[in-house]
Amino acid sequence: MTETALKVLKDKFGYDSFRPGQDEIINKIMNHENVLAVMPTGGGKSLCYQIPALMLPGLTVVVSPLISLMKDQVDALSENGIAATFINSTLDYQEIEHRLQQAAMDQVKLIYLAPERLDDERFLSELSDLNISQLAIDEAHCISQWGHDFRPSYLNLMKTVHQFPSHPVVVALTATATSKVASDIMQRLNIDPANEVSTGFARDNLSFQVVKNQNKEAFLLEYLKVNANAAGIIYASTRKEVERLTGLLQKKGIKAEMYHAGLSEDVRNKNQEDFLYDRVQVMVATNAFGMGIDKSNVRFVIHYQVPGNLEAYYQEAGRAGRDGLPSEAILMYQPSDLQIQHFFIDQSEMEPAFKTREYLKLQEMSKYANTEGCLQQFILKYFGESSPACGHCGNCLDERDQINVTVDAQKVLSCVLRMRQRYGKSLIAQVLTGSHVKRIRDEHFDQLSTYGLMKGRSQKEVTDLIDFLTSSGYLQQVGGEYPTLHVSEMGGSVLKGKAKVLRRGAVKAKRTVSVDDGL
Ligand code: ADP
Repeated sequence: MTETALKVLKDKFGYDSFRPGQDEIINKIMNHENVLAVMPTGGGKSLCYQIPALMLPGLTVVVSPLISLMKDQVDALSENGIAATFINSTLDYQEIEHRLQQAAMDQVKLIYLAPERLDDERFLSELSDLNISQLAIDEAHCISQWGHDFRPSYLNLMKTVHQFPSHPVVVALTATATSKVASDIMQRLNIDPANEVSTGFARDNLSFQVVKNQNKEAFLLEYLKVNANAAGIIYASTRKEVERLTGLLQKKGIKAEMYHAGLSEDVRNKNQEDFLYDRVQVMVATNAFGMGIDKSNVRFVIHYQVPGNLEAYYQEAGRAGRDGLPSEAILMYQPSDLQIQHFFIDQSEMEPAFKTREYLKLQEMSKYANTEGCLQQFILKYFGESSPACGHCGNCLDERDQINVTVDAQKVLSCVLRMRQRYGKSLIAQVLTGSHVKRIRDEHFDQLSTYGLMKGRSQKEVTDLIDFLTSSGYLQQVGGEYPTLHVSEMGGSVLKGKAKVLRRGAVKAKRTVSVDDGL
């Protein structure tokens, strides 16, 4: 089997060898076993179903939410002499019928569909008349309500899978799936857990960095000056902020364009093309930009504001360095930016249980921003993968000395206990700094022995310390929307004097990067 697949790889795509996981996935598909393929962005997921598509007798249906990318994929296949077509909302009824007929007459090997097509009963029934041998589901995390980008149309896929009389083999592909999402996908699509092929999430060419407590604008302008020859994406949370930042950069003479869902399609397309073809250096965008953007030489992705969860962060950050060359993923963190995401969750129409889950995910994002451990390791652990420290993220390269902050940590931890582990960090910090706010008097916290124990420190300094203790595992957050802080087992050891707490010094060493990509 591998021999034939290898020959197709060479003859049709011009590559000499498989990337990790590709041959295993292809073998399973050719054995008619349903598969879940989890591979990082740029790992080569498309070939996993394109090669079987050429080896199997009938038609391959690819369901992909990336309408903007469908045409490019089909064009690329056609250039390699592979007959493929797509059907999505950009086509009129006649054209859709024409394309279905082509498929019925075996004139194409692959047909790409937007998931929304599957909501149409009539279309489904026409489709099920075709001799479909393989069903590939791209961005398969959209199928799970636990995923960060759930699409209701994807639920129809299950019906679809079981409806086709030709019993196609199913391959689900994604770059972002926590173990919960992965098992959800497998259950829904009837994939045997033994048939999950995961090549891991690690993107070794990405260097992660968190920039905290700095003037964000000054940092950004300096960064873009140093990296003037490199293409990059800057994500912000709101359209307004995207517009403000784009204006700012343009005024400073930086070639920047913007992308958000409030712009007309024409403007979005134009700006996207300018970026893809290196006519501008920087794309400033909301999360509306990027799914399926296949620009290989993106050297940096900067999040100017914190995104809502690590899945979204990793996916967006992962748009850097698809060509495998060293690239940077920088999160500019300011605790107040969490409020924006908090607001988005609050305003959304999700059911309460989902809202709580989103608040918990946001807490993980804040832990990421506050950890002093390896950033890549933190992300991989979130996705259920253990790995050594990467050695090249902002924290791994941090040369500041570690300071013993055990006594301060003990003050915080004992205050949390004295407040009966029923409050959040702001109030705890207020008690420790001896604040006179009414609530403290009302609740008699000014009678506690820990009241004012850190007098003279700013509220911010103390909340930073609490964030650090939380992300390092000495404190645990409990609850979704308004989490309360609890002392963990590790925190207990610190209180008993059995463990020390070390923290990096307060001033971040200035480090600049220079990447030259000949923009
Ligand atoms: P993904 O969908 O996983 O993000 P793609 O399928 O778009 O990634 O593949 C990323 C790039 O890697 C593409 O340019 C593709 O042609 C290339 N590629 C895939 N498989 C191989 C291989 N075996 N050898 C060399 N290049 C490959």
